[in-house]
Amino acid sequence: MSCEIDGCHKEKISKFCSRHELAKENIEKEFSKWQIAFGSSYTMVEYLTELIENEDLNSGMWVKDIAEYILETKNDEN
Ligand SMILES: [Zn+2]
Repeated sequence: MSCEIDGCHKEKISKFCSRHELAKENIEKEFSKWQIAFGSSYTMVEYLTELIENEDLNSGMWVKDIAEYILETKNDEN
């Protein structure tokens, strides 16, 4: 089975391949720091959108893939 990310054909270790899994862990770690800085009203959606759109953050390709994936799957739940 390959990674859940579209266009990624690496073998998955959980839902994602090892590179995307690592990116996801980093996103979760970073988000808790941002939430401390911006307060608890700062949401994951705002953070993920920032990761994708803010060029200054220079998010890696793997991070952007995960951010887009989480945003898309969140929308599906609504
Ligand atoms: Zn992957």
